[in-house]
Amino acid sequence: RTKSAGGRDVRFFEQNMQAQLEARRAIQAELRGALERRELELYYQPIFSLSDRSIVGFEALLRWHHPERGMVSPVDFIPVAEETGLIIEIGDWVIQQACADAARWPSGVRVAVNLSVLQFEKANLLQVVRDALHSSGLPARRLELEITESVLLKEDEATIQTLHQLKALGLRIALDDFGTGYASLSYLRSFPFDQIKIDRSFVQDLGVRADGALIVNAVAELAQKLGMETTAEGVETSEQLRLLQEAGCTQAQGFNFGRPNPASQVMRYFADAMQR
Ligand code: C2E
Ligand code: MG
Ligand code: MG
Ligand code: MG
Repeated sequence: RTKSAGGRDVRFFEQNMQAQLEARRAIQAELRGALERRELELYYQPIFSLSDRSIVGFEALLRWHHPERGMVSPVDFIPVAEETGLIIEIGDWVIQQACADAARWPSGVRVAVNLSVLQFEKANLLQVVRDALHSSGLPARRLELEITESVLLKEDEATIQTLHQLKALGLRIALDDFGTGYASLSYLRSFPFDQIKIDRSFVQDLGVRADGALIVNAVAELAQKLGMETTAEGVETSEQLRLLQEAGCTQAQGFNFGRPNPASQVMRYFADAMQR
């Protein structure tokens, strides 16, 4: 590789950065009014029990219907919402909307809501959750809050205390994307999670790599010993499903079972389940 070729690479890189920066600024400006313009919507993806294939709940997944760009993925706009602080307002809305939607589902069916680390830095998270449960009438045991390892990264006493206070309301706490962080195992000691969500990257290895089942087996066994349940994320094939069942995983979620859909489609899953 010659020097001049390297120079071209650098210029290309810089132009690319500039374009990315501009795209981000545009998203920032447009996201600001998205809630009021009712462009944000919650989709729901079913979570199934691996023992009897019944639906135990749905995960709420945020969607942005952009008037020109079409559907924008949360992977693209959640980071922007976090940078601008908008995630607080959006996150509060997600909690309220998810509880209100779930209150109309058959009793016992849970709703799982993703929380950003920034929501823990505001003092009123507990109150927001309490208000959402109260105004929707959803029993606390039917709400599950999903946090990622990033929430625990700081080993902050206040965060752990908030988690305990939330759990004391009677709701469930799940550790999302388990295994992708830097010190996953140590986080299991920091809080008594109800649920561990095994990241999709490990599920993808099942049946592909010879040692693909090793990690899933180990996590499922460890979780069981700790009295926690396990959800496998991103289950796409029946082979993965079989291996997850063998591993002792308790729940599964993925395109194999059902894709995220608008709230109006949720009841359909129950009609389908009854016909099976
Ligand atoms: P997550 O919480 O780990 O959610 C699971 C993601 O995997 C979702 O992507 C879901 O659509 C996708 N998925 C489910 N099954 C499959 C499968 O079988 N194959 C594949 N390839 N993907 C599958 P989505 O909806 O794009 O959300 C991405 C991430 O955005 C979420 O990851 C979560 O971290 C974040 N997010 C979504 N909604 C919210 C929200 O309301 N608040 C916050 N703070 N974050 C959110
Ligand atoms: Mg999640
Ligand atoms: Mg996840
Ligand atoms: Mg994930």
